[in-house]
Amino acid sequence: MRRKTRAEPVRAAVVACQPPCYRGCVSSSPPPLRNPTAGRPDGAAGKTHRDRKKGRRRSALGVDEPQRSCIVCRATGPAATMLRFARSADGAVGLDVAGRLPGRGAWVCAAARCLEKAVEPKHGGFARAFDAPCLTTAALTASVRATLRADVLSRLGLLRRAGALVLGREEVGRRVEGLALLALADDLSAGSRREVAELVGGRACERLPTMAEVGAAVGGRPVGVVGAPAGGATTALARAIARWSGVEGSASVGDDAPATVADEDDDAPPSP
Ligand SMILES: [Zn+2]
Repeated sequence: MRRKTRAEPVRAAVVACQPPCYRGCVSSSPPPLRNPTAGRPDGAAGKTHRDRKKGRRRSALGVDEPQRSCIVCRATGPAATMLRFARSADGAVGLDVAGRLPGRGAWVCAAARCLEKAVEPKHGGFARAFDAPCLTTAALTASVRATLRADVLSRLGLLRRAGALVLGREEVGRRVEGLALLALADDLSAGSRREVAELVGGRACERLPTMAEVGAAVGGRPVGVVGAPAGGATTALARAIARWSGVEGSASVGDDAPATVADEDDDAPPSP
């Protein structure tokens, strides 16, 4: 028979709340609310970590995606495919690449035309969106392009570290059936593009930064051909590519531009 032992009284730190807690608690910090939405008329303010995680997953799957409208052309699209800008206290406007900065945001299509127009001070789209004076410089466009380019490269690096990236035309050609995303470096020669098109059965290929940049991102020698299987990270990479190539607005994949870089290294597997 188990003997009932008398519970030791909990010795709480005798620190009275300042001001005293409404529960008569002696702890210096009030206890957390059991239901974070309790007592809050606006349900959104009480979102839990799990709610937000669930929301991000649904968003990655393309379910219930929030829609935003461009401050330039007024076109509406999923928030994940657009560019969010935030305004700092001093009025400077900058790209919120992850779309998570607090406060009001201004949304612009991931298109060179809309971005260039939005940045023009006389357009005034940012000032209207933020309802406050905004500072934009010509350097903002270049900075947005550089940030989106870096975003693509960092996502490539993440996929590589996760072991999910297939590199080089031979490997991509062999495993093409299991790949959801195919992408070619911007400076891949026309001849190499034709070879890859044959290997992948004419499937559409996304555009990537240069072979040297892609190679540096995945930790090796220049890489011209990349593939990735289906998954959340691949979807995020495809969206990052779409945003970057949209604002870059120059030659697209498949152009028969003359080769500027030798073909020999474009599919060399990176050194470990
Ligand atoms: Zn637009």
